Amino acid sequence: MVTADTTAASSPTAAASAPTATSQATTALSAPTATLQPTAAVSAAMAASAAAPAFARMPVVERAALMHRVAGALDAAAGELVPLAAEETRLPAVRLTGELGRTTFQLRLYADEIASGRPLRERHDQAESSPDLFRTAVPIGPVVVFAASNFPFAFSVLGTDTAAALAAGCPVVVKTHPGHPRLSDRVHEIAAPLFPPGTLGLVHGEQEGREVLLDPRIKAAAFTGSPAGGRALFDLAASRPEPIPFYGELGSVNPVFVTRAAAARRGPSIWAGFADSYTLGLGQFCTKPGVLILPSSALDAAASAVAQALDGHAGGDLLTEKIADGFRAHRPRPSARAIFEGPPGEGRFAAPALFATTAGALRDDPQGLLEERFGPSALLVAYDEESSLEALAEIIGGQLTATVHAEDDDEVAPALVRSLAGVAGRVIWNGWPTGVTVSAAMHHGGPYPATTAPLHTSVGPAAIERFLRPVTFQDVPAAVLAILSSSREVDR
Ligand code: NAP
Repeated sequence: MVTADTTAASSPTAAASAPTATSQATTALSAPTATLQPTAAVSAAMAASAAAPAFARMPVVERAALMHRVAGALDAAAGELVPLAAEETRLPAVRLTGELGRTTFQLRLYADEIASGRPLRERHDQAESSPDLFRTAVPIGPVVVFAASNFPFAFSVLGTDTAAALAAGCPVVVKTHPGHPRLSDRVHEIAAPLFPPGTLGLVHGEQEGREVLLDPRIKAAAFTGSPAGGRALFDLAASRPEPIPFYGELGSVNPVFVTRAAAARRGPSIWAGFADSYTLGLGQFCTKPGVLILPSSALDAAASAVAQALDGHAGGDLLTEKIADGFRAHRPRPSARAIFEGPPGEGRFAAPALFATTAGALRDDPQGLLEERFGPSALLVAYDEESSLEALAEIIGGQLTATVHAEDDDEVAPALVRSLAGVAGRVIWNGWPTGVTVSAAMHHGGPYPATTAPLHTSVGPAAIERFLRPVTFQDVPAAVLAILSSSREVDR
């Protein structure tokens, strides 16, 4: 099914740049009885491609104004959208209301950022003895965004990836997440008419998503979801005759390291904070702290404190049945013992769980024990020697976040923080990773498998740069460069 605005697809420009549609049109001419239509995916890609040149030329302040208008329309529809989201995802209305606010804030922030001209990162070198070099950036072209299950507003139809691509001047085709199809349609119905035709398209279905990704008119992709799904789509993007950037956010267990001194001085509050953080939203956050690495001398106290906290937790319905099935199927390996497990449940239900293992077992089987279990489950890892923490940090692999609970004068802390900067996109001191602030200094990313593009963030205004392709103009006269200026008239 498609709800893309396909009016632009029938324009001459679209037909000229759309080999699939052109060949289908030719077939139809020679066989008048056949009623071949481009697929939903091709229609959406054609519409986006037809819209791209004018959208790229649109002055950034005008583009920003459109994004502000869309944000206002979504805010105005909160009374309708939040209950619909709650019905489909089973997330509480209060959380969804906050998430919608975050989403419209994000749209406005990215709009203001592009209006400032900052994401273009312009540089002009005018040394007399060398060429005149002017570096700026142009929109990369139509983008496909694979919406996430766990943020039906903030990482979905008008979430961070779409907002960033639109701010950059790129039309977007959204592949909806099957966990909230009606909400996706409704958000699209509200927003798409506010943009020029073809700028915001939408397709449903796995096959349609693959088809859009493979369409030669699409020039970049963004994805948030599972390591398996993200890797399959990343490989597909790389297999195209023209490979394209694939900004995938995949899996992360977000380890938390507790030093001996921190455990001794504030153990109870750390264990309580951990229980709260990994069960928040039933553990369905990409930044859920899934592994707590603590001194073996503190293991029993931590295990019983967390188990006590979980005892009062009723569990609940996860976002989709597929996610709940995945939760049931991915119990940690036998080298981790169960400390607490609620009833297995059925359908979408899941109850919190806690497991424990040793640093030695983790060293022997890092992949097996560090596999992300999406939902309210976590692993305690007990170490004997604090000197082993740096080595453990190095074997945990690419992460969105890593957290240290330590004292200011902890001797082990500086080296540990430095090691964690080598594997994680964000290093947190004496806090919890689940909140991801939308701001200029945020980096929400990390080395593979946390993401497929470790140089970039998917949250914060810097996310816009993923969809801007740098270009240098060498010795090009100002009068000729003036052709760029209408799209670069910024708010200063
Ligand atoms: P998913 O299975 O990876 O699906 C995400 C999107 O990618 C969906 O639109 C899905 O389409 C599409 N997709 C996945 N594999 C595909 C393939 N081989 N070919 C074409 N399209 C494909 O993620 P999910 O549905 O959210 O599943 C939950 C799992 O994702 C969790 O267990 C968790 O590990 C992970 N997750 C991670 C994050 C994060 O922030 N890193 C967030 C949410 C979920 P269809 O569903 O239409 O097939």
